[in-house]
Amino acid sequence: MSVFRLQQGRVPLLISLPHVGTEIPPELQGRLQPRALASEDTDWHLERLYAPLAQKLGASLLVPRYSRYVIDLNRPPDDRPLYPGAVGGTGLVPTRFFSSEPLYRDGAEPDAADIAARRQAYWQPYHDALDAELQRLQAEHGQVLLFEGHSIRSVLPWLFDGELPALNLGTADGASCAPALTERLAALLAGQTRFSQVVNGRFKGGYITRHHGRPEQGRHAVQLEMCQRCYMDEAADPAGAFDETRAAEVAPLLESLLQEMLAWRP
Ligand SMILES: [Zn+2]
Repeated sequence: MSVFRLQQGRVPLLISLPHVGTEIPPELQGRLQPRALASEDTDWHLERLYAPLAQKLGASLLVPRYSRYVIDLNRPPDDRPLYPGAVGGTGLVPTRFFSSEPLYRDGAEPDAADIAARRQAYWQPYHDALDAELQRLQAEHGQVLLFEGHSIRSVLPWLFDGELPALNLGTADGASCAPALTERLAALLAGQTRFSQVVNGRFKGGYITRHHGRPEQGRHAVQLEMCQRCYMDEAADPAGAFDETRAAEVAPLLESLLQEMLAWRP
């Protein structure tokens, strides 16, 4: 069984959801703290929001099976820090929860050989599939759009101060897509008042956005880091906290963002 699921679409848009996986391979389970088996730091339920949109728009959708605790698909393979100087944060193979407590049992932390094996087994196949799908779409359409969908709890003191805006759009400070695309999406977000928002604030786009966003080569990438309060009850057990009423409010805005990307495409 593959480590990811790819649904191929017909328009030049790929939606990647690299943190929605929740599975932890059996051989790793005994090394982690028992609490880790619930994968609390997952980008919960995003497939439920984005899969119907991908279907409706004819976009491609790429989702992993495994938890970010196994390996983080949105970190560089050499584990360079995404935000140099940041105090908290997790790397390629996380060893802490977002709450900063250790993920592993004493003495069971991954070593270099372990990390290399996970990179080969989980990280590389996802990136190869992502790259191949972008190439397929680009061969057909010329230019291609990559939308990186993420979500996070609204308050995480180890990672950022205070409460995050509801919607955090990242384009690597404008480097991961054409300037006109950042402007159009920023204008769309600024044109609504229901959800607080920021463009290239605390979250500017992770490794996938930065690496695959190459506007000069016709590849335009944007990341949306959405607070989970937009579609979940953050106080509840996340696995069962999807809130249909809230989701129905934010889904049309997500659809507008994706439509705007497709409408912009030169
Ligand atoms: Zn994420």
